Amino acid sequence: VQARRQRRHKRSSALRANQTSLREMMSKLEQQAATDELTGLFNRRHFIELAHAELDGLADGTQIGLALIDLDHFKQVNDKFGHAAGDRVLQTFATVGQACLREGDVLARYGGEEFVLFLPDCDADRLTSCCERLREAFASAEPVGMSVNRLSLSAGMTLLQPGADLDAALQQADQALYRAKDAGRNRCNAAWEHSGA
Ligand code: GH3
Ligand code: MG
Ligand code: MG
Repeated sequence: VQARRQRRHKRSSALRANQTSLREMMSKLEQQAATDELTGLFNRRHFIELAHAELDGLADGTQIGLALIDLDHFKQVNDKFGHAAGDRVLQTFATVGQACLREGDVLARYGGEEFVLFLPDCDADRLTSCCERLREAFASAEPVGMSVNRLSLSAGMTLLQPGADLDAALQQADQALYRAKDAGRNRCNAAWEHSGA
């Protein structure tokens, strides 16, 4: 009886250990699936999930700030300093950008040298000042081992109200971003200024 009890105890300990390591693996996998490897920021897929969840639960009278951010003339950085240096600039942007945020704000890599900023409980002033802060911080950043004399970004900003469509908002932000590029880059352009909304 004693021996049987010991065997059963051993088996259930081993099972528990297996379950723990499975859970750890699952959460590691989930984290990996949500993260952009180069910058450590959330990736586009995870951002979309988060944004939908946030929009679904958005209370009346509250708004979400959304900005698409594109690094200016980034191809030139790669051409002049090499792809590895370009990668470091992307990492620098992520570090500098995250330092500009408050709890609950999300900065994600949207793809390539494009990022998306997502600010719950936001208004036009807060979104604008956050984007400007980010633009200025990036302009004065000094990526290691590189003598770039001017880093800049352009941003297109929009606000989402309850019931808003995420794809439509992303399109509005993209159009505002396009106008910022067209107007000479290194600036943040608001969708509401153009549409009068
Ligand atoms: P614009 O001011 O109009 O945005 O010009 P741009 O040069 O930034 O835009 P363009 O779309 O011509 O070039 C983007 C470049 O970003 C090209 C691509 O090779 C580079 N890029 C995209 N992803 C990565 C990456 O992960 N690492 C590096 N080093 N470069 C990347
Ligand atoms: Mg781009
Ligand atoms: Mg660019």
